[in-house]
Amino acid sequence: MGKVKALFRYSKLAFYKIYSYFCIKRKQYITLITLTGMKNISKILALLAMVLLVSLSGCSQPEPIKALIISGQNNHNWQVSHQAIRQILDNSGLFVTDIALTPAAGGDMNSFQPQFENYDVVVMDYNGDRWTEQTDKAFLNYVQQGGGLIIYHAADNAFAGWEEFNRIIALGGWEGRNEKSGPYCYLENGELVLDHRPGNGGSHGQQREYVMHGRNNEHPITQGLPTNWMHAQDEIYDSMRGPANIKHLLYSGLAETSTGGSGREEPLVFTVDYGKARISHIMLGHAGATLEDNPAMQCTGFQTLLLRSAEWAATGKVTQPVPDDFPTEQTLSLRKDYGKKK
Ligand SMILES: [Zn+2]
Repeated sequence: MGKVKALFRYSKLAFYKIYSYFCIKRKQYITLITLTGMKNISKILALLAMVLLVSLSGCSQPEPIKALIISGQNNHNWQVSHQAIRQILDNSGLFVTDIALTPAAGGDMNSFQPQFENYDVVVMDYNGDRWTEQTDKAFLNYVQQGGGLIIYHAADNAFAGWEEFNRIIALGGWEGRNEKSGPYCYLENGELVLDHRPGNGGSHGQQREYVMHGRNNEHPITQGLPTNWMHAQDEIYDSMRGPANIKHLLYSGLAETSTGGSGREEPLVFTVDYGKARISHIMLGHAGATLEDNPAMQCTGFQTLLLRSAEWAATGKVTQPVPDDFPTEQTLSLRKDYGKKK
C-alpha cells in the first residue's frame, strides 16, 4: 500500500503539472476528479489519462473575445447599425458581445458608465451628446492602457471639440471641424499627403458601389485579402481632417467628382498611432433603413474587415482565414444574414 500511495502522490503531482501547462495559462477551468480512495494503479493511470484528455479537449476551444458596442445616439440609424454589428460579431463564434446604450439626446448622461475595462474590444457606433467627465476618463484610461477599439463610420463625426478623442480617431468630419482640427489627409501618387488649406472637414457624395484599393497586404487585418474588391452601395467619406496620426493605411477609395466626391483618393480603413492602443478606423458601413435593407453592412468585405479588425484590436493577431465568399474587383458579395451559421 505504501508504494501505491507514493505512486498516487507522484501521479497527482504530474497531473497538476500537466494541467497547469495546458490550461491555467489559458484560464480554462475543468472539474477536478477526486482521486482519493483509488486502490488500483491501473485505474489511477487510466483516470489520469482520461482527465488529461478532457483537459486537452477543453483547452482546444479558445475563450470568446469580449466585445462592447457603444451606441444610442447618432445622426445615422443606430438602431440598425448596432444590431448588425452585434450579429456580425456573435455569428462568427469568436466574440460575445454586450451593448451599452446612452440615454437619448438631452438625457442624463450620469447613467451611462460602461465598464470598458471588462472588454477586449470596444466598437464605437456613437455620434451624440458628450459623456460625463467620469466616463470620458474611463474611456481614455481603457484606450491608453492598450485597449482595443474600432471607430465605425459616423463615430468619427463625434466629439469634434474633444482633442484627445480626435487623436484616437486620427481623422474626423462634420460637427464644426475645419482647418483648426488639423490638415486634410489623402493620397497622391500612392502616398498620404497633408493639406493645410482652410475649409470644412467631412463630406461625401452619393452612395454607390465602389472599388476598395488595398494599401498594405502585410498587416494582420488585411493579410491574404484581395488588393482590390468591390464594396456594396455605401457612402465614401472625403475631406476628413484631424491630427492624421495614421499608423497603417489599409484601404483607400476614389471619391469621384461625378458622384459629388472630392476627386481624391481618400483613406477609408486604417489603424491609428496612439500609444499602446490597437485602434482600427473603418469609415465604411452607412446603415440602411432596416437590417434587411442594409447593403453597406451586408457586404462581405465590410463584415470581414470588421471581424478581422475586432480580433486584431483585441489580441494583436488575426486567426480568421480569408472567406470563400469575399468580393472580387468585379463581383459584389453580400451576407444578408450577417454570417448566421446555417
Ligand atoms: Zn453615413
